Parts: sequence; C-alpha cells; structure tokens
Amino acid sequence: MKEQEFLQALNSYCEMKRMKFHLKAIFFDMDGVLFDSMPLHAKSWIKTFSEFGLDIPRYEPYMNEGSTAYYTIDKMFRKYQGRTVEKETAEKIRIKKYDYMASLPRAGNIDLMPEFVEHVALNGIDRWVVTGSAQSNLIDRLNEAYNGYFERNKMVTAHEVKIGKPHPEPYLMALEKSGFKANEVMVIENAPLGVESAKAAGLFTIAINTGPLDPAVLKNAGADIVYNTSIELFDNRDILLRNLTVEYI
Ligand code: MG
Repeated sequence: MKEQEFLQALNSYCEMKRMKFHLKAIFFDMDGVLFDSMPLHAKSWIKTFSEFGLDIPRYEPYMNEGSTAYYTIDKMFRKYQGRTVEKETAEKIRIKKYDYMASLPRAGNIDLMPEFVEHVALNGIDRWVVTGSAQSNLIDRLNEAYNGYFERNKMVTAHEVKIGKPHPEPYLMALEKSGFKANEVMVIENAPLGVESAKAAGLFTIAINTGPLDPAVLKNAGADIVYNTSIELFDNRDILLRNLTVEYI
C-alpha cells in the first residue's frame, strides 16, 4: 500500500471522528496476529463439532474467530442444525475443543510480528493484548515468543469479558484499563468479528489477512486499512509510525 492510500484512510477516520490522531499504544489481537494459531483452532473446532454431529465448513472457525467459545457454538448449532444448543452440551463442546487444542503442538509466531512489536516498542509505543482466548499460560508464551514486550497487566482476555467480540466490550475495556483515549490507539486485528469489535469501540483499525479468507471480508467488516500479509504490515512500519505519531490534521 502506498503512503498516499494510508493517509487517505487516516484522514477519513480523523474527519469522521472530528479529532486529531496521536498514536501512543497499539492494541494487538493475539490469535492470527501474534501467533499462527488459527489453523490449530480451526482443526480443533472442526474435529470437536464433528464428534457432536455437526459438519462445519473449514472457513467457519475463521469467520467466527475472536468471539467466545459459546458464541461460536451457539451460532454453529443455529446455522447447521437450525436449533439452539443445550447449555450442558455447549459446555462439553467448549471443554473438548479447549483440551483438543491444548494437545496440539504450539503455534509459531506470525511472520515478522516479533520484529514489528520490537520496532514499535523501541519507538515508545505501548503494547496491549485484547484477545478472546482463555489460554492460561498466555503471558508466559508471550514472554517467550515476544521477548518481554508484553506485560501481564496490559491484557484483556476471555476471562474478563462478559460478551466478547464482535461486541465493542473487549476494546472498550482495554481503553478503560489503559487510560488511553480513542485517538491515541490503533488496533491490529486479523478476523472480521475482531475488526467489527474494534470499529464499534471507535478505534482506528488495521487488519492483516493471515488466514484463508478473502481480504474483502476484512474491509467489509470496517477495517480502515487491510494488509494482505503481516509482511506488508512490517514493510509499512515507518509509514505507520511517521504518520500516526505526529499530531495529525
Ligand atoms: Mg485473531
């Protein structure tokens, strides 16, 4: 993406919000942004659902990514069995999927994201994680893979939220916890429901397409900018910081 296109997107965001932008923090989604964990989630969902009599297409875990497990389970039962799911069954599915996921090998990092995170950190930008994940060893894994650039108290996880993405709740909670204003924060997401959540919270949102979905899905979800790969995001790191960290408009 050319700098001109980036500026157009930033300008129209600022005009709509009638505000100046001054980047101080990035809210990172985790699955599909920091870790290449979505293929494992997808595999776990498909296997678990099939054990409960639901054959879901491969794109569904990606379309529902970022939401809570209950949201996904309820949606899949309505869509593919035309009925609601009993609470006990939903809980069994949630646990089975969690255990299956935990039995798979660990996901690697998304390409060049450790380098991107290091670059923004060295430029004085604060880093937060806003995730629908409930993994218990999250901070240890982040510390290991991301060189201490994320901190335990700078996170919003599935344990804290009541509703979850695509509702704005997780990103609003991150704003409240961090004390940053909407015009000081940028979101990096990879999933349509995550983009919807961030946009509903009023935040400037960059989507990176790290999965099998058509990038148009991310644009249609409301992303201000869509990069086709995480490498494209990394290549644009100077354009981002140059234009977002000076008071603009
Ligand atoms: Mg994600």
